[in-house]
Amino acid sequence: MTTVGILGGGQLARMLALSGAPLGLRFLVLDSTADACAAQFVPSLQADYRDQPALAEFASRIDVATFDFENVPAESAQWLAERIPVFPSPRALAIAQDRLAEKSLFRELGIGTPDFVDIDSRDSLLAAIEKIGMPAILKTRRLGYDGKGQFRIKSQADIDAAWESLGSQASSVGLILEAFVPFQRELSVVAVRGKDGEFRAWPITENWHESGVLSASLAPATVDEALAAAAIANARRVAEALDYVGVFALELFVHEGRLLANEMAPRVHNSGHWTIEGAETSQFENHLRAVLGLPLGNTRSIGESCMLNWIGRLPSAEPILAEACGHWHDYGKTSRVGRKVGHATLRAGTRAELAEALVRVGDALERTGQVQPVLDRLSQG
Ligand code: AMP
Repeated sequence: MTTVGILGGGQLARMLALSGAPLGLRFLVLDSTADACAAQFVPSLQADYRDQPALAEFASRIDVATFDFENVPAESAQWLAERIPVFPSPRALAIAQDRLAEKSLFRELGIGTPDFVDIDSRDSLLAAIEKIGMPAILKTRRLGYDGKGQFRIKSQADIDAAWESLGSQASSVGLILEAFVPFQRELSVVAVRGKDGEFRAWPITENWHESGVLSASLAPATVDEALAAAAIANARRVAEALDYVGVFALELFVHEGRLLANEMAPRVHNSGHWTIEGAETSQFENHLRAVLGLPLGNTRSIGESCMLNWIGRLPSAEPILAEACGHWHDYGKTSRVGRKVGHATLRAGTRAELAEALVRVGDALERTGQVQPVLDRLSQG
């Protein structure tokens, strides 16, 4: 009997456990909060990620550890890795946790990125704005996610407010200034690499965000083959450079036909949730296969999928359940502003069928704003 330990007990851990059940796996989650949603049906420990006795107990009860959450302290990942196998490696985790380190890696690998500068003082911010120009985005290097820890600087008048808001974090989590990219599209490559170096990517996903949080994903994205191949080649280069094991996502902007890498997530990713119903093997199952050294599953898509995220509160499930191609995911969380509480995936045989289902769902749930960008893309073919 193999037990997989997961650091972090949110919806990603929950979906990992669901996909691991048919493989005969057992799970143990470690989470710092009392209401981790995976813990509703996965054995769990509640403790701070730096609590060594808890980490020791966790390590003693599992065969391999992985993450649902990339902000686990790098020292804790390292401590575990000295005792049990941990995938992805603490080094890959540490690089992906730090926007400066990951963007520097992209640059070294010849992957385009938005212009960026490390910021350690107000003076360095002023110098960076001189260099990069405006608009620009000041971001924390570590511990930012879903648009948190970011401040957009549109003009000189915003500089004081940006420094007021994030300056105090320059010495703790670090800061980076990035050029604002007026991108045409946001894409992600969700890919998996096995222990033997085998690499597979799912078809490219197009993503739409609201207030920095993923709102909708469409897969396979309607991008030309050369762009898709270049995006996947970038992801492969990153995975090989990090000797990465497991699933990860590379988020890319498309700007004037060029790909610019925004960030990588060293874990299964929200933009890959469609793979549960829309691909031969889901990102969750393939992540488990990778960390256990099992053969990787086929990543081809089955039909055309659109994933809609439910943020803050769940809408009524009925309009989704009423669709022949509708799949509902309730993470078992209480409602809270900005919180990811569930998602739905519509998986249809053709783009036309997907568009029809999206129109019905958008109308019934009064979420036409959420589905409209996807419909616009589908209508462009
Ligand atoms: P992040 O937390 O870096 O993934 O940012 C969340 C979202 O903010 C991204 O998905 C983009 O929609 C937007 N964003 C982040 N960085 C930039 C940038 N340099 N230029 C334009 N938009 C950005």
